[in-house]
Amino acid sequence: MRKSILLLLLFVVSIQVHAQEQSKGSPRIIILATGGTIAGSGESATKAAYTAGKVPIDDLLNAVPQIHNYGKISGEQIASIGSQDMNIATWLKLTKRINEIFAKDEADAVVVTHGTDTQEETAYFLDLTVMSDKPVVIVGAMRPSTAMSQDGNRNLLDAIVVAADPKSVGKGVLVAMNEKVFDARDVTKTSTTDLETFKSKNFGPVGLIYDGKVQYYYQSLRSPLKKFDVTKLNSLPQVEIIYGYADANPNSVYCVTNSGPKGVVYAGMGNGNFNAPVGKALAEAAKKGIIVCRSGRAGSGRITLDNEVKDAELGFVVSDDLNPQKARVLLMLSLTETSNRAKIQQNFFDY
Ligand code: GLU
Repeated sequence: MRKSILLLLLFVVSIQVHAQEQSKGSPRIIILATGGTIAGSGESATKAAYTAGKVPIDDLLNAVPQIHNYGKISGEQIASIGSQDMNIATWLKLTKRINEIFAKDEADAVVVTHGTDTQEETAYFLDLTVMSDKPVVIVGAMRPSTAMSQDGNRNLLDAIVVAADPKSVGKGVLVAMNEKVFDARDVTKTSTTDLETFKSKNFGPVGLIYDGKVQYYYQSLRSPLKKFDVTKLNSLPQVEIIYGYADANPNSVYCVTNSGPKGVVYAGMGNGNFNAPVGKALAEAAKKGIIVCRSGRAGSGRITLDNEVKDAELGFVVSDDLNPQKARVLLMLSLTETSNRAKIQQNFFDY
């Protein structure tokens, strides 16, 4: 009897200590490393050439000892790739691990280190599939860790600051880059080499990071309340992107649509427009049951349903304000649940 009372007391005390540590600003944060320039290594401090994904997570952690002031930090290596090689298998591995971390209460927040090329796609994929409102923050770098004025250490510290802050709970997946915080749905890479590459062209950053603190200004209403459950999935339905341009040959559409995709995203001119032969090829694909989603190559703004293009007649859906690469992510996930065109269109307005 006395033994069980003692055990109960110990249990209560350990819960209190845990809660106090969290309120003292000592949250448990796991960094999941995937590679990219933030783990890139070059031959010299001044040359631009480097190989992405070379530096292991323990070296990254040791390079920024200040992160330990913000919580109990540990790291795991999920992949060591440049993000141009990011793939659906790694997305599924990553989101399953994050869901496991939160389900088993292994951490209060997760930071993902990632190459910048496809960072926005991974961020949106996680936004749609992580079943927790705890902070998940994705971070990268534009200069390799061996470069002069490298940005990775600062970005990593800032990502930890964001992940550790209780205000980051319930904001969906966030991207922390260059002293700014972005919503996963809205952010995009806008420059091949600038440090200031990440922007949310339609709505701006949701927060700013400075001097070890994050300040929030906006919150997206579109971070999904309902998530896609990928627990049992090992792959996603095939969805390809087709690019629009002046005098485009419809063979590019036929090539793709004859390769067996369940959906295609068309990165159209302006408000998702196409020339007549491409439009005919896309309409034929829609008739065959392929979900054809019109998006745009302009880089910002919405694709509007049934205005210049007769979407209902041609059997198309529109991406709303999602760029083509993010529209592909939502279309792949939507197709895991339904192939009903109206429902998929609604997803593009809801998510
Ligand atoms: N292409 C590499 C990648 O996306 C390096 C670019 C970067 O991380 O900035 O991982």
